[in-house]
Amino acid sequence: MGQSESKLFVISGPSGAGKGTLVARVRDRVPNLGLTVSATTRSPRAGEVDGVNYHFLSDDEFSARIEAGDFIEWAQVHDHRYGTLASEVDRSLSTGQSLILEIDVQGALAVKERFPEAVLIFIEPPSLDVLRERLLGRGSETPESLELRLHTAKGEMALRDRYDEIVVNDDLESATEELIAVLHRHERN
Ligand code: 5GP
Repeated sequence: MGQSESKLFVISGPSGAGKGTLVARVRDRVPNLGLTVSATTRSPRAGEVDGVNYHFLSDDEFSARIEAGDFIEWAQVHDHRYGTLASEVDRSLSTGQSLILEIDVQGALAVKERFPEAVLIFIEPPSLDVLRERLLGRGSETPESLELRLHTAKGEMALRDRYDEIVVNDDLESATEELIAVLHRHERN
């Protein structure tokens, strides 16, 4: 992202808040922003590619990577485990890039303990009703997984005050601009 210091940004928010879309848009407009590929035990959704969207691991493989100390953080989210590989973070930061980690709230708070200079950004849906509509629109949730994600969302929203920045994703374009402004502001600090 230019001449300024590289920073570690951590983005969280309820599933369906639009984090993935927002981060993809920001990456299109902000050059040299690294993104790590997390590991997960969940199965790929339609269109997801191993090594690109996630490293899709079996339960045993994931446990082995924990044992080996390969994760800077990992957490159980919904029914599966997700984790950030230290190798991915090192690779990105060693090139002097700023880095965005897109991880859940438990992971974000763990990263903040380990890297206090990390900037935690919470992406918030305009309301829980809007969140429900967006999750339904995605078409990939069963009634049970929808309820689980909404329940998790309420718990996540309760932790928003622990974040350095909050961006409400009401209108995609203005949220994209706001997020870019947040990144630039912190890179200059
Ligand atoms: P999804 O299954 O929808 O791709 O992701 C579910 C949740 O897992 C999201 O809230 C996402 O931020 C979180 N997540 C993805 N990767 C990681 C990770 O590496 N660590 C942690 N703690 N959470 C992650």
